Amino acid sequence: HSKMRTLIAEADINRRVHELANDIRRDHPDGVHLIGVLTGAFIFLADLGRAIGGDTTIDFIAVSSYGKGATSSGQVQLLKDLDAPIEGRDVIIVEDIVDTGLTLTYLQEMLRARAPRRVRTACLLSKPSRRKVDVAVDYVGFSIEDHFVVGYGLDHAERHRVLTSIGVVEP
Ligand code: 5GP
Repeated sequence: HSKMRTLIAEADINRRVHELANDIRRDHPDGVHLIGVLTGAFIFLADLGRAIGGDTTIDFIAVSSYGKGATSSGQVQLLKDLDAPIEGRDVIIVEDIVDTGLTLTYLQEMLRARAPRRVRTACLLSKPSRRKVDVAVDYVGFSIEDHFVVGYGLDHAERHRVLTSIGVVEP
């Protein structure tokens, strides 16, 4: 078994999620439609949505990136589309982490083409040093160094998603 080092404690995540929810509520007095990017964002979306409260609706989308890592081609495949149309709606893409920014760029372009009133993005984590494309993120939980992180929805080979904190797996 590999060792786990806590990077962000549960209480710090909880506090930050509530701060983001307050910002989102302030910016969206007419309610908001959250679009969670499966699977990594499911816990963040659940906590964020409950913290926003009010007239919040949710939907999910699933994508997979080809050639992740050093040879990332930036190609993204749609695995599961939204259940509901978003035309005219105030939408927020809810992502676990922005790394190169390629996935988010694809999602923003794809959703903008469906004529929502507004598309914003909320990411729990961001690794700015890894960015390959300059993508706009309106709400960022934490900016972190270039570590591979797990927990709070994020996995390593499908493990650790249910960890309540965010950790770094050490070899
Ligand atoms: P991007 O297209 O920005 O390079 O990749 C974003 C996706 O890569 C995230 O949604 C996530 O699935 C995955 N990813 C990037 N960095 C990490 C990380 O540190 N840990 C985990 N578990 N997934 C990551």
